[in-house]
Amino acid sequence: MARVYNFSAGPATLPEEVLQEAAAEMMDYQGCGMSVMEISHRTPIFDKIIGEAEQDLRDLMNIPDNYKVLFLQGGAYQQFAAVPMNLMKNGVGDYIVTGQWAKKAWKEAAKYGKANCIASSEDETFSYIPDCSDLPISPDADYVYICENNTIYGTKFKTLPNTKGKDLVADVSSCFLSEPVDVSKYAVIYGGVQKNIGPAGVVIVIIREDLIRDDVLPCTPTMLKYKTQADAGSLFNTPPVYGIYICGKVFKWLKKQGGLEGIQAHNEAKAKILYDFLDESKMFSGTVRKEDRSLMNVPFVTGDKELDALFVKEATAAGFMNLKGHRSVGGMRASIYNAMPKAGVEALVAFMKEFEAKYSK
Ligand SMILES: *Cc1c(COP(=O)(O)O)cnc(C)c1O
Repeated sequence: MARVYNFSAGPATLPEEVLQEAAAEMMDYQGCGMSVMEISHRTPIFDKIIGEAEQDLRDLMNIPDNYKVLFLQGGAYQQFAAVPMNLMKNGVGDYIVTGQWAKKAWKEAAKYGKANCIASSEDETFSYIPDCSDLPISPDADYVYICENNTIYGTKFKTLPNTKGKDLVADVSSCFLSEPVDVSKYAVIYGGVQKNIGPAGVVIVIIREDLIRDDVLPCTPTMLKYKTQADAGSLFNTPPVYGIYICGKVFKWLKKQGGLEGIQAHNEAKAKILYDFLDESKMFSGTVRKEDRSLMNVPFVTGDKELDALFVKEATAAGFMNLKGHRSVGGMRASIYNAMPKAGVEALVAFMKEFEAKYSK
């Protein structure tokens, strides 16, 4: 078995144990004689899969009883529309624009109501998180929106914005389950699972119950109305059965890692190895403000485009995959999600040191 170290931003690396379990169950899931891909979502087998997945997620995140968990489709992107459609009672959303994903969410919301950009870090290519302690929150805002971890730029909110009592909505696609979280501070938490949880095709929405209602914007498609999905327990139509099954396995794997406290310690240790090296290296450097550094996505550059390209080429040949930075930023980006072993980061840093010794003038 030739597994590489996969630093892809998403779809991304998954725990080997989970893949092996899924492989072992591929032809015959727990004696039913079928693969999970082949069973109806309206069977006791699947009821158990989705029920356990939800309960394990609730345990991991300590989700209060007055929040619903929805397993949906359409990716994070679809939520850019679903959020304003469902939540814009006054027709107003305040957006903190800290990267391309937040910007796209803001632009999408503007189709459905008044979407205000109340803070932005675009002036410095999204390399920092703006001060959000005293923002001009609109008095009639239905919610304040953030992208908590900026996948492309490698920044993360270390403290949540002061929303002045307004509901907080967060896209956590690339930091989902990477550290403990106080769900009660949010109105809605959502994320595509393909970054840190499972295969592409599932988006998880955690939403406070009082926000699930009938008086959504009239244009809201049935499928995008949270109430439709909540009333049907995420089984309004055929859900992404196999994806939910893998997510469930990852939740169990996370419990074995010591839950979110355990995985946080693992993630901090991994990130430290890479950031410490970037801080001491004469060739490589990180691209974002230190206080705002993400534990999950680590962009870096050599300062020389040709050297960056050479690095990516040699790294790929050595089995360090998908290190090329996002097309809008250039350079490199190592995504070191939950499932990336510490050994993978150590090996990458050793490789970077060799590269630096070989090519520094
Ligand atoms: C990847 C990503 C998205 C887009 O996810 P899709 O599932 O492809 O729609 C949105 N937000 C963040 C923070 C992401 O990392």
